[in-house]
Amino acid sequence: MNESKTSNVLAKEYRSNNMTHVVTSACVDHKYQDCVAVCPVEAFREADNYLVIDPDECIDCAACVAECPVEAIFADTDLPDEHEAWLDRNEEEASDLPIAEGDSPVLA
Ligand code: SF4
Repeated sequence: MNESKTSNVLAKEYRSNNMTHVVTSACVDHKYQDCVAVCPVEAFREADNYLVIDPDECIDCAACVAECPVEAIFADTDLPDEHEAWLDRNEEEASDLPIAEGDSPVLA
């Protein structure tokens, strides 16, 4: 097994042991932030025009899923194939982004 395949296998094994929720492309240019208000652990991170979830903070409670008006949030185990890339995107971008404050530009 080459190094890349080994890395992918290890990443999938890690994720199966560390469940998280994932913000997907439906959030882009909306960023409603209703989800931020219900998250008990401040897991949401804020980019310019969308949110991501820090998998190291998410406790997988699912409270945010029903709050999203554009159905952008999924459990990693329920992530539709077309949003697969967002699993890595949430994980990779979260560490460089500030904690979302929940001050929605939509509701302002
Ligand atoms: S699943 Fe729970 S802990 Fe994770 S981001 Fe959503 S509300 Fe926060």
